[in-house]
Amino acid sequence: LIRRSRLKSAAQVIPAIPALIALSCQGGLFGPLPSQIDDDPVPFDHKLTFARHVDQAFSEGRIDRIMAEAGGLLASVETECPDVHCPVTFTRVGGVSAFSEGGAILTSESQLDAVFSVDADFKIVTFMVGVCGAPSGDDPAVVLGCASTGGSVVIVHDAPTDVWAHEWGHVQGLPHRNDCARNLMHAFELETNAVNARERTALLTPTPGSAFQRARTAEETECLNCSAAPAEVSGGEPLEQVISRRFLQGIPSALLGNVESAEVVEELLAHWAAAPPAHVCANLARLLGHAGDPRACAPLGDLALLMAGELQVDDLAAISESLLALGRLAAVDDSGTALALLTAGTSPEFWSARGLTVRADTDSTVSTADALARISVMALGLAGTDDARQHLSALRQRESVSRSRDPWFSVQVEEALALLGDSSARVLTGQRAERQP
Ligand SMILES: [Zn+2]
Repeated sequence: LIRRSRLKSAAQVIPAIPALIALSCQGGLFGPLPSQIDDDPVPFDHKLTFARHVDQAFSEGRIDRIMAEAGGLLASVETECPDVHCPVTFTRVGGVSAFSEGGAILTSESQLDAVFSVDADFKIVTFMVGVCGAPSGDDPAVVLGCASTGGSVVIVHDAPTDVWAHEWGHVQGLPHRNDCARNLMHAFELETNAVNARERTALLTPTPGSAFQRARTAEETECLNCSAAPAEVSGGEPLEQVISRRFLQGIPSALLGNVESAEVVEELLAHWAAAPPAHVCANLARLLGHAGDPRACAPLGDLALLMAGELQVDDLAAISESLLALGRLAAVDDSGTALALLTAGTSPEFWSARGLTVRADTDSTVSTADALARISVMALGLAGTDDARQHLSALRQRESVSRSRDPWFSVQVEEALALLGDSSARVLTGQRAERQP
């Protein structure tokens, strides 16, 4: 990840000086003031275990570098947002184990369940889309990490360091806090490091077990608004700048104000035509899908049709968001382009014919054909048209006669039918721990 200029250089990050503050207040008549307690925190080290999907290489050295950097981010004091020094460190315990549950590319909540069942604090995968209830169940997006409260984290291999720290914050019970863009617990911003005193306390305590979960449930009413608070929109940011950024769980269309206006759509299409980098395409695709203008279908379809061979993760994000956008646009697309592509895309052979793989490491790649077929299924679930429903029903029928080679395909069909409001959809929803990107 290339860090943008507005992130502090090391010289601008001010180290906290808790000793001075403690001295100035010592021996007061009324005992220690809250600021004394807050500014002299006891360091805490989290001893963590790591696992990676068998298809996703990840070295111990790389983990150690990320963990050291995560501790550094939390210890530093941000100047753009209110922040406190948080002396938390993260230490790897044991090697990096390999698991085969779920998959390297996660496209369904059931697959994510399977990965969460792996016994490790961090589970590393290649790619995730439309999982972790993000941003809400009916608005799937590419997500970089997912945490279950009081549990563990599933994270993509190329997630920036602050995402690793953010997700661990959720494990420690922290909700999102969007009142400043550099907040570690911001719902969608990246390049973050600011925490408040309450968040620091949570990060400097042992990982909560069941007792914590019970206590938190009791407190839930107090904190209802923390996680449900609408994302803060930083108004006036130029479109060109917004679309060039990266986000934790897909670009929020609210960042553009009125994404459905004809002028914004024209501008988005013009940027698309200029063939920008893949992560910008992913942002543009997502915004165009939300804009509801069928003119976007042809360019979005072209992107999905023209990619071949080995992809970078950003390319896979661009294709995924394009397919999801076509799903959102299918209902207004009189040309039928969107539905035709998505219907064809539900067949893994449609993708494997072009030899599509994604780079997982310097010397390994992961096949994407099955995942792209499942993402096409997911997109049909978004379409909400009778044709999409019929195709999904036909896929379900076919699965009942002869199961796909991909064990997660039929699960995906059921989740898509559930998205369409099909009451017969067989989807597991109970017993899923509270989790969020
Ligand atoms: Zn989060």
